Amino acid sequence: MKSRVLVIGAGLAGVEASNFLSQRNIEVVLIECKRVKLNPAQKINSFAELVCTNSLKSKDPNSAHGLLKTEMKTLGSLVLAKAQESSVPAGDALAVDRDQFSKLITESIEDNNLISVINEEVSDPLAIAEKHSCQHIIIATGPLTTDSLSAWIQAEVSGEDFYFYDAIAPVVDADSLDLSKLYFKDRHKPVTETADYLNAPMTEDEYYRFVEALVEAEKVKPKDFEEEKFFEACLPIDLMAERGKDTPRFSCMKPIGLEQDEENPPFAVVQLRKENLLGSSFNLVGFQTRLKYPEQLRVFRMIPGFENAQFNHLGSVHRNSFLNARKVLNWDMSTQKFPQIHFAGQITGVEGYTESAASGLYVAYQVYKKILDKTFSQFPVESALGALVNYIMTNNRPAPSNINFGLIPPVALSKEQRRDRRNRKKVKKRLASERGQKIFREFIQNEGII
Ligand SMILES: Cc1cc2nc3c(=O)[nH]c(=O)nc-3n(C[C@H](O)[C@H](O)[C@H](O)COP(=O)(O)OP(=O)(O)OC[C@H]3O[C@@H](n4cnc5c(N)ncnc54)[C@H](O)[C@@H]3O)c2cc1C
Repeated sequence: MKSRVLVIGAGLAGVEASNFLSQRNIEVVLIECKRVKLNPAQKINSFAELVCTNSLKSKDPNSAHGLLKTEMKTLGSLVLAKAQESSVPAGDALAVDRDQFSKLITESIEDNNLISVINEEVSDPLAIAEKHSCQHIIIATGPLTTDSLSAWIQAEVSGEDFYFYDAIAPVVDADSLDLSKLYFKDRHKPVTETADYLNAPMTEDEYYRFVEALVEAEKVKPKDFEEEKFFEACLPIDLMAERGKDTPRFSCMKPIGLEQDEENPPFAVVQLRKENLLGSSFNLVGFQTRLKYPEQLRVFRMIPGFENAQFNHLGSVHRNSFLNARKVLNWDMSTQKFPQIHFAGQITGVEGYTESAASGLYVAYQVYKKILDKTFSQFPVESALGALVNYIMTNNRPAPSNINFGLIPPVALSKEQRRDRRNRKKVKKRLASERGQKIFREFIQNEGII
């Protein structure tokens, strides 16, 4: 009998999985609920929406994100292809015009004859799979999985312990900024009008007043039954300020490499990244926040140049649901309880747009192998994808992770390379990346699946 796969969720993981399978002649039923029910982070009704920053992180092949991207390309990533088509300048990062990116992906999915799109909310995956005669299921409903499906997952798969918190950064309208107080400059590069980042410098006095205002401002309180559990790499700016008055300036407000005038360096800097090619709006880098909306307007207008700032959207905090993969999933991301049900994307415990998309490719690859009746094989841990899966499947205390070289076994350096203190970190990354690319290529060739 011909296999058919049910994919739930047309986010980053869901579109990748659907596209991967359809490219191999597998029929997909893709069910997405945003056209009937937007979640609090969503603004548009097209697929693969980037709900916070517009960056898919580094393109540099010698970075961990770059390594992951080379592997995704090998697996035929739709997300990367459309990100490239809709990219906006952002230095080494792959940043996109989010509306254009989402539009291109949606068109590609909707024009695909092997993918049937259904706009509805899934509450019981098994019942829906039966209704549409699907033998395999991929649940890719992301960190904001709707309540009804969350209830099903908690009852049938995860038990308790299925959430933590995450936060969104505000986006400001460029026309409302006083550009005489800001300047274009990429970190460690010369000041130039063509730089990708706009910077708002602060004096010591301005910075400490700003931090004090962040600490004192009214925050949105979590609901009674929810405990705040933030992802360390994506802490709200106000929480950073609460941790210590200097914490933000050693984190997202770090001034190093952003000096306009060497003689008179800023004490701290708010970095703004273009949201679109026109540069008509900017994302406040690292400014995800729990502040109440009126408080955000008051406090963020204290930033030099922001006195009359108008925001396209303000920051917010949201639940972020994910599984304890080690406890409930197998290495191919199927559930221990229901072998035909797989999870993909952020809900498995990976963190980030690119990682979620990559996870969609990984799971689709494993489902495809099952359809071909091939045995499971683990991706090499030296590859970025193998390292991510290894992380979520072996980590004792589940905490979502981006891809980084800390997850990949280190490369041994020669004596000479170790002695070169200035360059050894760089060399280590380059060697790990070259090794990862080689091992991944050989692995995929040996598998002979794609
Ligand atoms: C508030 C917030 C901000 C974030 N900011 C960033 C960031 O700046 N950078 C970054 O790299 N990562 C960020 N992330 C993390 C993560 O990378 C993204 O959430 C990413 O989109 C996850 O991809 P996904 O495919 O797993 O899920 P999603 O992209 O969220 O896709 C899931 C899809 O499933 C649909 N769905 C949900 N429930 C159902 C249901 N019951 N039936 C049918 N469809 C359903 C949703 O509508 C959605 O379209 C953020 C996460 C959150 C929550």
